Amino acid sequence: MNNVISLGIGKENKPFSWSYSKIKNFDSCPKKHQAVDLLKLFKEEESDVLRWGNEVHDGLAKRVRDGTPLPFTMKHLEPVAAQVLSVPGRRLVEQQLAINKDFQPCAWFARDAWFRIIADVIVLNPPVAFAVDYKTGKILHDSQQLALLAACVFLHHPDINAVRTEFWWIREDEITKENFRRKDMTSIWRGIWPKYLELKNASETGNYPAKQSGLCKDYCPVVTCSYNGKYIPPNGDNNDRNNSGRFSQA
Ligand code: SF4
Repeated sequence: MNNVISLGIGKENKPFSWSYSKIKNFDSCPKKHQAVDLLKLFKEEESDVLRWGNEVHDGLAKRVRDGTPLPFTMKHLEPVAAQVLSVPGRRLVEQQLAINKDFQPCAWFARDAWFRIIADVIVLNPPVAFAVDYKTGKILHDSQQLALLAACVFLHHPDINAVRTEFWWIREDEITKENFRRKDMTSIWRGIWPKYLELKNASETGNYPAKQSGLCKDYCPVVTCSYNGKYIPPNGDNNDRNNSGRFSQA
């Protein structure tokens, strides 16, 4: 049980704030989202895939921002850096964009920060901007994250009227893109609103139900959940199985 890291007492008393990854994690399993992301009772194991993703982001950020050569294992990504560097304008790398409830830009750690998103690279060339998010996993067609990124660029940079957003799929060597205009902002927030309300409602009621899936058996660190393949019952003894060989549900 060495992946248990804290009791998390009081950690949910912080003002409610959200991000696109919180929405996605809540959607995947509310109970896991509460235990891992909010209470920090358990930590996801860093897989090789996740570690590689972090290294790629770090290597490209240093290359594009500081001119630091890419590490030997990432030399093949030089064309990626070159392509970013060829876009004309003011480049912002690993840009943290936060806004408050009144849709006003604010500092990342401001007490009233309500929504946060990080852009791997933004290039400002008013009245247009270009924003890219590197992806190291399999291609997924999910334009909501790009839409939220564009909305925050508009809120932080009033002189920008159009944003070209792109996911760069490093493993597949592909780009997927979406263009947004300032007038799209209302529909962007309206599109995510039902998901936002679900997340907010859970935060207010403390209702984070378990959502069983193929991840439960081997890929979830929440060992106190009775669906978990490594379930540890409250009394700490693993004899909590019924006669059918299944774990009894708490
Ligand atoms: S074991 Fe499954 S249901 Fe339980 S918290 Fe993890 S993902 Fe959710």
